[in-house]
Amino acid sequence: MSILVLGGAGYIGSHTVYELIDQNHDVVIVDNLQTGFESLIHPKAKFYKGDLRDSVFLNGVFEKENIEGVIHFAANSLVGVSMKEPLDYYHNNVYGMMVLLETMKNHNVKYIVFSSTAATYGEPKEVPILEDFDTIPTNPYGETKLAMEKMMKWCEEAYDMHYIALRYFNACGAHPNGLIGELHNPETHLIPLVLQVPLKQRDAISVFGTDYPTKDGTCIRDYIHVCDLADAHIKAIHHLMDGHASNIINLGNGEGYSVLEIIKAAEEVTQQPIKTIYCDRRAGDPAKLVACNKKAQEILGWNPKYTNIHEIIQTAWNFYNNK
Ligand code: UDP
Repeated sequence: MSILVLGGAGYIGSHTVYELIDQNHDVVIVDNLQTGFESLIHPKAKFYKGDLRDSVFLNGVFEKENIEGVIHFAANSLVGVSMKEPLDYYHNNVYGMMVLLETMKNHNVKYIVFSSTAATYGEPKEVPILEDFDTIPTNPYGETKLAMEKMMKWCEEAYDMHYIALRYFNACGAHPNGLIGELHNPETHLIPLVLQVPLKQRDAISVFGTDYPTKDGTCIRDYIHVCDLADAHIKAIHHLMDGHASNIINLGNGEGYSVLEIIKAAEEVTQQPIKTIYCDRRAGDPAKLVACNKKAQEILGWNPKYTNIHEIIQTAWNFYNNK
């Protein structure tokens, strides 16, 4: 029996595949390589290149492979782009999920772990954020992920499928093996962009907004290491396969850092000054997102191993220096 990882050539998907294979699972990857990279695909995984919205293709994969459970990462995930191209997000994310759930239903596959996001909450009334807080997304990205969560909920009622939606906060860092890490083209995420300055790939880092109601005026986020996320996905699929109930669970460290604090920590890790430019806010960004991670501890027995922001940034720095 295999675990199907949709988006297994992407950043978080590839780290999860490495961990699954380390734990002796058979892994099948589906990825259209739109944002994934062939270099991130584990050599022992079976890879099908294709788009999950292509139901003939996806049905073919389910026919050929003996799939026990699905981990779904294959979605668009950029707040800024989603504000400009909302329909792309609805098509890839929501329609993609529809085709996937339909295919799972046709092949009687019952378990799905889904990569959701803190963007489902929108601007929270307070932090840390609990899973039962209101979900009022401030951008189409969060809106589509919330719609995908709800599709799984109704499929559970109707078809007895079981799901865990993992709402993660800001994924970052790289595998300590130095082989895989965060790659996006174009890159839009804070930590890789900050590190491009000491790597001499850019002159300066832009800080999007300095007038937020936070301690230094810049946005606060909860940065969680990608290997800790991978670990949680595997615990979640085991949890479902062991017969436990569906759930929605936050994944974060429970600690917030401002954009300026991240830049300072990166200066300390790289031992180099990082030039900073202050800019206007980026549309769609909430001021503060910090997780309460108690539910993940209680339900999944998950505890993040990378709790030190310097250590997290160090793993990313090592990866970019090895490339
Ligand atoms: N950010 C920034 N400059 C950049 C990229 C990001 O100031 O060049 C900020 C962004 O506004 C947000 C935080 O850094 O407050 C994290 O952004 P990222 O895109 O990494 O993740 P997101 O929070 O959108 O998931």
